[in-house]
Amino acid sequence: MTAESNSEKLSPADIAALRPDTRLVHGGILRSPYGETAEAMYLTQGYVYDSAEQAEARFKGEDPGFIYTRYSNPTVSMFETRLALLEGAEVARATASGMAAVTAALLCQLKAGDHVVAARALFGSCRYVVEELLPRFGVASTLVDGTDLASWQAAVRPETKVFFLESPTNPTLEIIDIAGVAAISKAAGAKLIVDNVFATPMLQSPLTLGADIVVYSATKHIDGQGRCLAGAVLCSQQFLTDHLQTFLRQTGPSVSPFNAWVMLKGLETLPLRIERSQASAANLADRLAVAAKITKVIYPFRDDHPQSALARKQMLGGGTLVTFEVEGGKAGAFRFLNALRIARISNNLGDAKSLVTHPATTTHQRFTPDARAEMGITDGMVRLSVGLEHVEDLAEDLAGALKAV
Ligand SMILES: *Cc1c(COP(=O)(O)O)cnc(C)c1O
Repeated sequence: MTAESNSEKLSPADIAALRPDTRLVHGGILRSPYGETAEAMYLTQGYVYDSAEQAEARFKGEDPGFIYTRYSNPTVSMFETRLALLEGAEVARATASGMAAVTAALLCQLKAGDHVVAARALFGSCRYVVEELLPRFGVASTLVDGTDLASWQAAVRPETKVFFLESPTNPTLEIIDIAGVAAISKAAGAKLIVDNVFATPMLQSPLTLGADIVVYSATKHIDGQGRCLAGAVLCSQQFLTDHLQTFLRQTGPSVSPFNAWVMLKGLETLPLRIERSQASAANLADRLAVAAKITKVIYPFRDDHPQSALARKQMLGGGTLVTFEVEGGKAGAFRFLNALRIARISNNLGDAKSLVTHPATTTHQRFTPDARAEMGITDGMVRLSVGLEHVEDLAEDLAGALKAV
């Protein structure tokens, strides 16, 4: 979809050769004849044609313009191109939410009789799709301990078509060996989908590690200011043509051009925001580790993380989330959460505002205590999504709240 821009000085090839931060500011621009500086927001459902012949050519795919916003839209297209440039993917397709991206990436390629292997530690709604929704349509699924490569191998069946994982996991920040799982997936003739939300595209490149498809909830760090929902699927041109394109066009999980515009502008500042939040997260993790009333700190780049070597191998940084355990179980965690003044209680993450979650009673409430124990989620566990506030204000907020425990 290339609307001819009037005076672009950088060709797509020029932009692809630039460094990621620069691509995130200049990549994918479809500038209108007005020469606007900021990317335009095209709030339109449809497009008009100069002639019946042009309409015919466009439907035949011989004319590269737009047809209908459920199919594509210039603002959405700018977001997709820019994200694909960052990820090093051949193509990206935006969706209305992260869950729309996950569901489309799975359903577009699966049919009754197929089998999916997924890591047990999945985002709650992803686990619903794999564990409950897919089997209703005759797609069997097996959940494995994602950190154990032998379990992935043991779960493979002749009809296995998809492997699915997220790393680091929510909320225990376990690291799954993406290259290792990709090798097993490839040998099984399956496609590996990686949900890369927690790592963000700045810190981990699953495609480079051997994954076939990457999915995002852009709602999180890509927006980064807690405003809109959106998602994305990144894949090869072949996968788009064979599976994804028709599925998205015909089932319609399309993103609003407004939301796509917010995400497009979010990409411009993504490197700065991740750098800041991550530096604060690493700093706070170190301070929490020596604080009284904290019994455990989980942060992928700390030496006491059991998989810190793997984290360092496949990630460029430890990320923007820190998980820790407060003394006194649920009561202790609740006293701590309630005493915070800057970090607010929320189930969300990846916001400019620091957010704290008590997984056992919110995001993972629907699991039995045994299932939570199996996932390593304790009653005193707290997940902190570190925002853009000054790190000293956050440190004082955490220290103050610990006094209340
Ligand atoms: C939030 C999230 C999703 C779902 O994204 P939505 O935009 O809320 O639909 C999927 N996976 C992970 C890891 C998430 O954090």
